[in-house]
Formats: sequence, C-alpha cells, structure tokens
Amino acid sequence: MRVVTRFAPSPTGELHVGGARTALFNWLFARHHGGTFILRIEDTDAGRSTPENVAVIFQGMEWLGLDWDTEPQFQTARLALYDKRIETLIATGKAYRCDCTKDRLDAIRAAQTAASEPIRYDRHCRDLAVPADRPHVVRFICPDSGDCGFEDVVHGPIKFDAGVMDDFVLRRTDGLPTYNYAVVVDDHDMAISHVIRGDDHIANTPRQVLLYRAFGWETPIFGHIPMILGADKAKLSKRHGATSVMKYSEDGYLPEAMINFLARLGWSHGDQELFTRDELVQFFDFDHVQKTDAVFDVQKLQWMNGMYIRERLTADALVDRLLPLWTAAGCDVSGYDRPRLAKVVATMQQRANTLVDLARDSAFYFAADIRPTDEDRAKTYTPEALDHLGALLAALTPLTTWDHTGLEAAFRTLSEARAVKPGVIIGPARLAMTGRKNSPGMWEMAEAMGRKRTLDRLNAAITAERPA
Ligand code: GLU
Repeated sequence: MRVVTRFAPSPTGELHVGGARTALFNWLFARHHGGTFILRIEDTDAGRSTPENVAVIFQGMEWLGLDWDTEPQFQTARLALYDKRIETLIATGKAYRCDCTKDRLDAIRAAQTAASEPIRYDRHCRDLAVPADRPHVVRFICPDSGDCGFEDVVHGPIKFDAGVMDDFVLRRTDGLPTYNYAVVVDDHDMAISHVIRGDDHIANTPRQVLLYRAFGWETPIFGHIPMILGADKAKLSKRHGATSVMKYSEDGYLPEAMINFLARLGWSHGDQELFTRDELVQFFDFDHVQKTDAVFDVQKLQWMNGMYIRERLTADALVDRLLPLWTAAGCDVSGYDRPRLAKVVATMQQRANTLVDLARDSAFYFAADIRPTDEDRAKTYTPEALDHLGALLAALTPLTTWDHTGLEAAFRTLSEARAVKPGVIIGPARLAMTGRKNSPGMWEMAEAMGRKRTLDRLNAAITAERPA
C-alpha cells in the first residue's frame, strides 16, 4: 500500500506541542515507509485563519525540520469541490437541506433536555425538499441502526452505534463545510492511506466512516494517538508552561531535542531515550504507540536538550545556533574567528541546558569592558591581589604559544614562586577576565579568549584599581 499521511492543523496562532507531535508521527510514518507527507491547512474559520497564523504553522514545521512533499493544501481553495460533492449526496438521497430556525432548534433542545432525552435534531426537514435558494444548512442522513465503528491501529476495534447519531451538519448556512465533512472529502481526494491524529477525534471518526460509506469510498486506516497531559494529569495548557513549539525555540531548545522529546510522547522503542532523526524514521511504528495518555515533562525536555548540547552537537555546530542569539544580545563577536568561537562554546558546553543559557553565560567573552560589581571589586582587588595580577600579567606576556597547557604551566610556576595557593591568584584573575566570580576553567577560557584580550583585561583591572 502506498503510504500517504497528512497533518491538518487549523491555524490557532501557535503550533501547539500536541499538534507538533501529531505532525511528527505522521511524518515519521510516511518517511519510514518511503511514502508521502501532506500538510493541509484547515483554514475555513476566517477569523482565526489569518496569514500570520498560517505562517506560524509553517515556521514551526520548518524549525522542527518536518518537511512536506506537495504544495501545502488549503481548504479555502477547495470550497467548490465540497459544494460539488454535497450536491451528489443530496441527489442520491444521502443528505438534505434544512432551514430550521435557531428558535426551533433551541425549542427542540429545551424539550429534549426537559425530558432527559439525548439532544438531537428531530429530522424535521428530511422529507421537505427545502429549496436551495433559501438560507439552509445541509445535513447528513444518518442510518437508523448499524455499526459505524472502525479498526484503529492504536486502539484496536472501536464499535459505534449509528443509531444514536444525529443528522449532523455537513455545510453551514454561510456555505462553509463542517470539519467532519471537509476532512472526508480531503482525505479521499488526497488519497490519504493513514489518518493519524489525536485521541480527541475518536468521537468524530464514526461520522466520517458513515460519510465514506455514503460516498462509496474506502475508508483510510485510522490511528488515534494519545493525548498529552501536564505533570498534574490535566490536559496540557498554558498553565503548565509554554505550549507553543516556537516558544521552546525562543527559550533555547534545539529542534533535535524537541523532536526526540515529542517522539517519546506516546511512543517508545525499548528503553532507549535518545534517538537521531534517522533512528526515529527507522524505528517508528504503531505497535509501540501507547493507548494511555502521555505526560509532558518539561524537566525531561530540559535534560534531553542538555544531552544534545553536551553530547550530540559539536561546539562548531553550536556556534551556528548561537550566532543569532549573540547578535540579538548585542554581543560583538567580530574579534573571534570561527575556531575560537568554537573554543568559547567548548568551555561552556558541559554546563548549559539551553542555547539561551549558553549565549547568556558566554556574553562576557565579547564584552568591550569588564565591570565587576563594586562589592566584588572591593572584596577581591586587595593590594596583594593586584600585586599577584601584575605578576601574572608579566608571566603570561612573554608566552609565544597561547594554549591552555602552556598557560597553566606558566601560572603554576608563578604560584609556586610566590608560595600561594592557586585560588589566591585565580580569584582576582577570573574577576578581571570575566567580571564574575565563577567561570569556565581558567586556562581553557584564556585560550579561547585569546592572548590580546586576556592580557588587556588583566591590564585593565590593574590600571583601574591602582590607587590614585
Ligand atoms: N483540523 C483538525 C485539528 O486540528 C484536524 C483533525 C484531523 O486530523 O482530522 O484538530
């Protein structure tokens, strides 16, 4: 079977992590089978489907590297097709026009509520042949009985009694198709083989099954994937933290880590946690998609991101990711060539969990001048400390090669000659070079900072602190 999947978001203003996970599972399944992955924008809600909201979806998909194979499909470009198909349903006695007023529908609902009956349309217009030139909706003629369940690749067989179903609306008075109607026409026209979407759609699928039957079309294979909950087991919402994928990008998460994390929301492969993209494509299948809800654990995402920063990406690759962040933070990196930028990153890589941490913590490398707090200066730059700094400057200045082993050796000789513990000299030197009391390893840092800048900073501290 030719595998064709699709991700069909309705633009809401964000690519929600739940949507992104649905997109990922569809993408992985298509890629695993060498099939096709379609991006379909369900944009019939004019209020929400603004160009900006659509752009946000593309942006999120691109950031995650979830590429789609055909031109993106827009439902608003397909309205004539929905109309054409609906006429077929009416002509073949599968659907009908209904012009019941809101008041009438409200009255039916009120009476049914009072009688504790299920709320459903009373089929008043089924046999009235409401003319097409009156404002109307089009309703589907639901069978009175029979099963309209389906076989789900995650949940197994799901039974559903058509007899309890309403004559649901296919097209509204404004001429726009409802979700359940448009989705069937689209999935059929786009030859979707597998409909993979969130569990929250399980209740819609029987209606769609009935529509496939009414059209005489074969149903696709359905797979409903588990919901994503917050740590408190409530449906994931803003209360739990960011729900927008791009917010995680802004917060310094790597798309590789995000993909890995999303893949593990409801799917597993033994007890493996870290996967390359190729491994995910290779291993992904529905046998290991769980039925139960998945929990979005931000701490796990943070851990995973840290693992990618520390172990999965090279310092050089991280430089590419950090350049825009450094620029945005106003850091002038022009004094550092590319290999030295990689050294800068290498000094920090082991302690950061996000790119934002890395960019922030490395900013001191690029600062035009170093300004420790008054308190740190007063505590650190004692007359002895300044004397040690002068001696350190003198010891490092003649070095012709500038690498951490040579720097450290020169420093050791100095601290032994002066008979002081290393920290006595390192403390003030660190403050002079970074403006802070903690920093990456001193000599790797000095190597990355380079000769001129290191010596200039030591010198600047000595000059600034010298008693007048
Ligand atoms: N637009 C629907 C949603 O965002 C699509 C559901 C489906 O995949 O059928 O939930």
